[in-house]
Amino acid sequence: MKVSVFSAKPYDRTFLQQANRNLHQLVFLEPHLNEKTAVLARGSDAVCAFVNDDLQATVLEILAEHQIRCIALRCAGFNNVDLDTAQRLGITVVRVPAYSPHAVAEHTIALILDLNRKIHRAFFRVREGNFALDGLLGFDLHGQTAGIVGTGKVGRVVARILQGFGCKLLAYDVAPDQGCLEAGVEYVALDELLERSDIITLHCPLTPQTHHLIDRRAFEQMKDGVMLINTSRGALVDTAAAVKALKKGKVGYLGLDVYEEEGDLFFEDLSAKVIQDDIFARLQTFPNVVITGHQAFFTRNALENIAHTTIDNLTKIKYGEVCANLVNQELIRAS
Ligand code: NAD
Repeated sequence: MKVSVFSAKPYDRTFLQQANRNLHQLVFLEPHLNEKTAVLARGSDAVCAFVNDDLQATVLEILAEHQIRCIALRCAGFNNVDLDTAQRLGITVVRVPAYSPHAVAEHTIALILDLNRKIHRAFFRVREGNFALDGLLGFDLHGQTAGIVGTGKVGRVVARILQGFGCKLLAYDVAPDQGCLEAGVEYVALDELLERSDIITLHCPLTPQTHHLIDRRAFEQMKDGVMLINTSRGALVDTAAAVKALKKGKVGYLGLDVYEEEGDLFFEDLSAKVIQDDIFARLQTFPNVVITGHQAFFTRNALENIAHTTIDNLTKIKYGEVCANLVNQELIRAS
């Protein structure tokens, strides 16, 4: 198949080419996929897209006009795809449901440890020859109550690691996991999790039900000085409400790998540009906020797995074989 790979970075090229072994004709395109760039896929059979590519109805219509019959997402989440329209247009959507839950879980833990022990501040202090400890006081993770929202593949690994630290674990999930229950994780309602947790970490998907799951009301329910981590999808958190909660001291630590308006920012070098997003700029002024640019997935192991599964998905579609990673089927099953 001829495949237009949108939002292609040098690392995408490296890993996809290694996995491809000339099975498909890959055309690497730097731009994001959107209404303006969709035409670049002309002549291809499929497009390969990433988290911030726009696959809403208008874009899908353009792709369909150009005979694109398959979208291969090189990510797990599919919140950026209008699945109903894809279905109507006969476009098959495949994804990479699991590539390394460890990558995302370990990055979550990195944010927790960094925020607690203020490594981001200590790093600069020591470089400047400032070895004073004032302002760097942390707490033992041992004995803290951590609340995990979503105990799927990533949430379960986070739970295991935090148990290793000696944390007490609460969880909220629409479908509790048997393994977590057996390991002593206590499932509670979301309200109770918000009220009792010292650390809250989000690992559920972004859906209409979870959009702004953490809003002004949710912040009010939390303990004063709570730590909130989001490595899932930006729009799970109402960022304007988060800024207010930080200003009031309600949130004591905020670790984000995702941001609701990240599409205009992340994955690009904007270091010589003026950031136009005032909420994001305000977030960056807090000493107790650490933001990474959607890099939780970014390990060698994960990129190898993403590339192999993506190529395998494309090959299965090409030969009309059963592909377990069809998103459209999941939609049918869920409805
Ligand atoms: P998963 O599908 O295995 O688990 C998601 C869990 O959330 C499931 O247990 C599900 O029952 C639960 N859930 C669904 N709706 C819910 C709701 N309304 N309330 C509470 N729980 C709900 O997904 P995963 O592989 O563990 O990934 C979790 C999320 O991490 C993904 O949805 C994706 O958005 C995000 N992610 C981020 C990165 C990154 O680089 N930052 C990488 C991969 C995945």
